[in-house]
Amino acid sequence: VIRPLPGTLLEAGALCLIKDFEKRPSVTHLLDHPFIKGTQGKVLFLQKQLAKVLHDQKRLNPVAKTRHERMHTRRPCQVEDADKSCLEGDLVNLEVLDEDTVIYWLQKRYADALIYTYVGDILIALNPFQTLSIYSPQFSRLYHGVKRDSNPPHIFASADNAYQCLVTSSKDQCIVISGESGSGKTESTHLIVQHLTFLGKANNQTLRQKILQVNSLVEAFGNACTAINDNSSRFGKYLEMMFTPTGAVMGARISEYLLEKSRVIKQAAGEKNFHIFYYIYAGLYHQKKLSEFRLPEEKPPRYIASAGTERVMQDITSKESYRRQFEAIQHCFRIIGFTNKEVHSVYRILAGILNIGNIEFAAISSQHQTDKSEVPNAEALKNAACVLCISPEELQEALTSHCVVTRGETIVRANTVDRAADVRDAMSKALYARLFSWMVNRINILLQPDKNICRVEDRMNVGILDIFGFEDFQRNSFEQLCINIANEQIQYYFNQHVFALEQMEYQNEGIDAVLVQYEDNRPLLDMFLQKPLGLLALLDEESRFPQATDQTLVDKFEDNLRCKFFWRPKGVELCFGIQHYAGPVLYDASGVLEKNRDTLPADVVVVLRTSENKLLQQLFSIPLTKTDTLEMIRHPEETTNMKRQTMASYFRYSLMDLLSKMVVGQPHFVRCIKPNDDRKALQFSQDRVLAQLRSTGILETVSIRRQGYSHRILFEDFVKRSDSVFLKYYHVEQLNLLLREVIGRVVMLQAYTKGWLGARRYKRARQKRQKAATAIQSA
Ligand code: ADP
Ligand code: MG
Repeated sequence: VIRPLPGTLLEAGALCLIKDFEKRPSVTHLLDHPFIKGTQGKVLFLQKQLAKVLHDQKRLNPVAKTRHERMHTRRPCQVEDADKSCLEGDLVNLEVLDEDTVIYWLQKRYADALIYTYVGDILIALNPFQTLSIYSPQFSRLYHGVKRDSNPPHIFASADNAYQCLVTSSKDQCIVISGESGSGKTESTHLIVQHLTFLGKANNQTLRQKILQVNSLVEAFGNACTAINDNSSRFGKYLEMMFTPTGAVMGARISEYLLEKSRVIKQAAGEKNFHIFYYIYAGLYHQKKLSEFRLPEEKPPRYIASAGTERVMQDITSKESYRRQFEAIQHCFRIIGFTNKEVHSVYRILAGILNIGNIEFAAISSQHQTDKSEVPNAEALKNAACVLCISPEELQEALTSHCVVTRGETIVRANTVDRAADVRDAMSKALYARLFSWMVNRINILLQPDKNICRVEDRMNVGILDIFGFEDFQRNSFEQLCINIANEQIQYYFNQHVFALEQMEYQNEGIDAVLVQYEDNRPLLDMFLQKPLGLLALLDEESRFPQATDQTLVDKFEDNLRCKFFWRPKGVELCFGIQHYAGPVLYDASGVLEKNRDTLPADVVVVLRTSENKLLQQLFSIPLTKTDTLEMIRHPEETTNMKRQTMASYFRYSLMDLLSKMVVGQPHFVRCIKPNDDRKALQFSQDRVLAQLRSTGILETVSIRRQGYSHRILFEDFVKRSDSVFLKYYHVEQLNLLLREVIGRVVMLQAYTKGWLGARRYKRARQKRQKAATAIQSA
């Protein structure tokens, strides 16, 4: 009704209305037209109504007949069938709304491999755990520019909707994909990018190719195999695709958040390091280039051998996949535009990290000092120094000793074995995190739009947020805490848009819609983010005390966080529990303070800066993005460990940065759901799905979407965007009046039938409308 597309039932309806109106130019008659009368303002009802009208008018109205018939020759299914599938495809249309019914439909659809279902404008995506043949270019075409209800629900329809909104409203769009780990967020992102590149028909084929390769490259560095997902994203990603005002894709930009860098040095049982380490080791092994990068041939480096040396070696030598992935990565680098020199430097740094991991320390006891450490396997140290192009002596010095400034004097102190190992690991983490940031920055430069194509202020973005899902493992540490807080924030954003703002709008419009109760997680977010007594602020405060321990940290939490979301389980040391929106999680506080301090000694930075590898030099010289240790890089000599920015403050900053990007766009939500924990196709665990539906407030969403008006548009925009069909027939002024009348009537009727308007108010309103109608008629 709002923007009839050529060849659709709605366009036929508009034509039919106009023809009718021409025959009998009476507004009262028009309002009594069955097409308008029974609509209740919803497109779906309109369509059904229209099908009826068209059926009746077939003989009278040849235009409608031919269009109607054309529709049906193009689509093989019957109208009734299509309607049925639409009804089932949108939970808002369910007659009965309760958990059982929703689950019943989702399960029924899932059994038929119908993984997508709408809740009004929100898309629910169940992970199929199997390859479906619904993502081919034919499907891209099928979903291109058609009304949502004309096809079964699909991720392409959501991407298409965002794109159409972008083009018609010239406003930035933001697609938020959320769900648990392994629920299909990253796959959904790929599919959205695929469809958007299809829609934004880049004249420039290379740009299209580049955008499609970006995900693979970034994911090779940022994803890893976890207990839950073989390709789990270990960082948050906000991908912005930029378009010209006419809707042609012209560039892209990625922002990365919170890479889980601790994975470089240690992985939980059954988990692996970042993919790229395996790819590069296997790739170089097969190319017989391990020795060039000083990597040991007989035994895989310690950082990637958590699954057992033999197993890794077997994987690397026998399996084709790692090697093929390595080739694919090389291809990605090339297509995106990295130079050979850059790629070579990246490999050297990766090999450097693997070699650093092999450095071990042993205690040497001398008469005076018992806690000094040395490096017994000089080979690993030499290898690391060699690939990183730094001096092995200086590296050893930086690892096994540190400088302390007391009363203006610099004293060199030896590191204990433990401390030396910590410095080594901190160095690997910093190297990897900075390499990752550099790579993302470089991609952004290579994919930046051509200034000559369109002015910066005319550019429009579709942002796609794929952030690590909510996590609750056997042991949850600082990383899980950050991830879950981020998810908490995204849930809040969702609630704001779906519930709070929506209800405010109804109030502003004077519609007494029933208030839908939802779980507001603002109090919990405040508990995390408030200053000075929020959890993160307390953590930062404790990190500043050199004597603080993880025990004092938990005590501090307990003393200050007196609310129902926080508790301390009895009998478990160093543990605290948080009641998240998605369920309770127990966190283990051991090591949290140190992770938050994220110490990288200045001595290490100084050594790395002397590297002859230009890239490495750059990584530790200029501030890349918002790196956590900027302060220290700028003034290594002045900065003591305690003064540095902590992970918590960096995290808070990233979260704000992400939100500031998101709030400018019109949001679209995709809720991914994991139907089972065994990653099995066609297996639907009702309990698991129900838990996810409950925690994300899907039922409340159905309820608010059903009671509310999911399609809305400003009156002015409506008139502006009206199809030329209307404009051809009416003077704009006349049309304005007419539409005001028609829309008012529809909304009013709906309000009345839903019981929001009492009979008296309805009558009064109707009288007012009738007066207006007479005015129009005389006009
Ligand atoms: P998340 O990003 O939410 O952690 P992923 O997107 O990585 O989850 O999905 C986990 C796995 O589920 C994928 O590796 C893939 O095997 C499967 N999967 C998810 N979505 C789809 C889909 N639309 N079609 C086929 N397989 C899928
Ligand atoms: Mg993912």
